[in-house]
Amino acid sequence: MKALQYRTIGSAPEVVEIDTPVPGPGQLRLKVTAAGVCHSDAFLMSLPAEAYTFGLPLTLGHEGAGIIDMVGEGVDGRHLGVEVAVYGPWGCGQCYACAQGHENYCERAAAEGIVPPGLGAPGSIAEYMIIDDLRHVVPLDGLDAVKTVSLTDAGLTPYHAIKGSLAKLVPGSTAVVIGVGGLGHVAVQLLRALSPATVIALDVDDAKLALATEVGAHHAMRSDAAAFEAIKALTNGLGATAVFDFVAAQATMDLAKAVVRVEGDAVLVGVGAGVLPVGVLAGSYDSSIRAPYWGTRSELFEVLELARRGQVHVETEVFSLDAAPTAYERLHEGSLRGRAVIVP
Ligand code: NAD
Ligand code: ZN
Ligand code: ZN
Repeated sequence: MKALQYRTIGSAPEVVEIDTPVPGPGQLRLKVTAAGVCHSDAFLMSLPAEAYTFGLPLTLGHEGAGIIDMVGEGVDGRHLGVEVAVYGPWGCGQCYACAQGHENYCERAAAEGIVPPGLGAPGSIAEYMIIDDLRHVVPLDGLDAVKTVSLTDAGLTPYHAIKGSLAKLVPGSTAVVIGVGGLGHVAVQLLRALSPATVIALDVDDAKLALATEVGAHHAMRSDAAAFEAIKALTNGLGATAVFDFVAAQATMDLAKAVVRVEGDAVLVGVGAGVLPVGVLAGSYDSSIRAPYWGTRSELFEVLELARRGQVHVETEVFSLDAAPTAYERLHEGSLRGRAVIVP
């Protein structure tokens, strides 16, 4: 089968021909119908050899959807032919976190060497992919795979981030979204669907700011030195109730921290290189800084339900598997609108 692999540190990913995998006991195989391209892939491919821990060659893609076309020993064959979305942050299924569906925070994944598809295990940008357990797929139930696949990360991750601050996002509150790319443009919609907060979107690119307004942001502005005063002005000088930073470079994290009001949240989602000081005198009183990772199994069901109700969607640009390297070039140059989706 064809697959997109990262094969050499520092090189671009390549479309290669590899053996079609066969599911082992307890596993299932998907005939992939759609796979999403995330900035985290670009991040891992930017790492120097000494910091790279994902294995080589690595079949990319941690957003996946497909039709269950083969099951391993012990897996119920009734599920054959069902089209599903992949829950990516695989856990052990046995620990306390996994028992709650919080497999993204599995207590044993690291010790047991359990890694997500596309971030260690073979990923979704291929004609077929192996899923370790039936637990890690959710039926699409009528949703279009191409339009939906990115909700497994670009939807689930902001959903989990926002849910953690939802109790504070009451009428009169303000939420700031920094970076209106794949995750950020879904975050704007989630904030509008889940809360009465005023939503302010920040980006460095005018096309992304236009997209932010299209998908529901009340205000959109450039992410620069003037943004601090502008957000203060829009909040009677109090600052934002919650800032969701999908860039998390030092400059955006500094802005997030500076503009968060008393008892507010700075939620750092982007895998940038910045760090923030915490302390009674280091920021607004009783403010919190969180750095969430991906989302829970039940939250993926909830995000897909929002899509079914038309309350959230992903703006997609579709590429063939042969053109997948181009999708990564477009991601790198920042010219994608929403999310790139690969259709094998
Ligand atoms: P993306 O490339 O689609 O979007 C990034 C957006 O940020 C673009 O619109 C870009 O113009 C904008 N941007 C860049 N610099 C900016 C700045 N200084 N100020 C404001 N906006 C700026 O990326 P994505 O796929 O949406 O991923 C976003 C980030 O989230 C990445 O760092 C990714 O690695 C990370 N991520 C984290 C998790 C998690 O679980 N914590 C999950 C998925 C992705
Ligand atoms: Zn991702
Ligand atoms: Zn676990």
